[in-house]
Amino acid sequence: KSRAKLANPNGKKVTFNDVAGLTEEKEELEEVVEFLKNPGRFIKIGARIPKGVLLVGPPGTGKTLLAKAVAGEANVPFFSISGSDFVEMFVGVGAARVRDLFAEAKKHSPCIVFIDEIDAVARRRGSGLGGGHDEREQTLNQMLVEMDGFGVNEGIIMIAATNRVDILDPAILRPGRFDRKVGVGRPDVKGREDILKIHCRQKPLGDDVDLHEIARTTAGFVGADLENLMNEAAIQAARDDRAYIMKEDIDKSFIKVGIGTEKKSRVVP
Ligand code: ATP
Repeated sequence: KSRAKLANPNGKKVTFNDVAGLTEEKEELEEVVEFLKNPGRFIKIGARIPKGVLLVGPPGTGKTLLAKAVAGEANVPFFSISGSDFVEMFVGVGAARVRDLFAEAKKHSPCIVFIDEIDAVARRRGSGLGGGHDEREQTLNQMLVEMDGFGVNEGIIMIAATNRVDILDPAILRPGRFDRKVGVGRPDVKGREDILKIHCRQKPLGDDVDLHEIARTTAGFVGADLENLMNEAAIQAARDDRAYIMKEDIDKSFIKVGIGTEKKSRVVP
């Protein structure tokens, strides 16, 4: 059985409004949204819509969020699976999982199929060290077969995310596969302020909290870090039995989220 999850079927839809900054990225994806909303218009005129879009960028920059927002904007189902879910001990399981995923997606088309950490399965072939890489190659081959097998305008759009485009098998990037690349960068100061605003929508702030100032002092933070920062601050405030967040909570939160310690894992060369 496929491990693909139909993401929060009853939950609140994610839209581009929930994604701060990333203006160019959203513009590039708007085309995909338009297609999913009205495939007929594109098919009639013979336009070829990309089958696969690869989002490339450091962890926590909002790639998953963007993919969900595309599905939300187009109001289509969102299937998500991680590349690491395909990598199994037993030969054949990964490939079977890929087949199931596409069979499921076809039933729900138009839809988005999101593959996080695609590098786990789509690493350059023949570069594996020791056991297990035969299995991965089989899985990758199956994925290529499936992608080539569905028609261009069948209404399934694949979105994949990676922070290691350099190790991907070039076969995956060929025309008709993931032939569209969208870079998702770290936010600049304005981007960080906008992200903070989004994550403070439901959080009352005290007068001494200046989001612009926080944005200035958080160079290098990605969206996931900022979300975490504000969440910790909210927890601090709640523990103090206060109904709003003060600057002091955010200062404490800085220490708690351990800038420079936890962040090491996020730094991408
Ligand atoms: P990974 O590669 O680790 O999966 P990712 O790039 O897919 O990371 P997301 O999972 O989309 O990152 O981001 C994690 C969380 O960080 C989001 O759920 C959201 O709360 C917050 N976030 C990241 N980027 C943004 C953004 N541009 N606007 C608003 N929130 C953001």
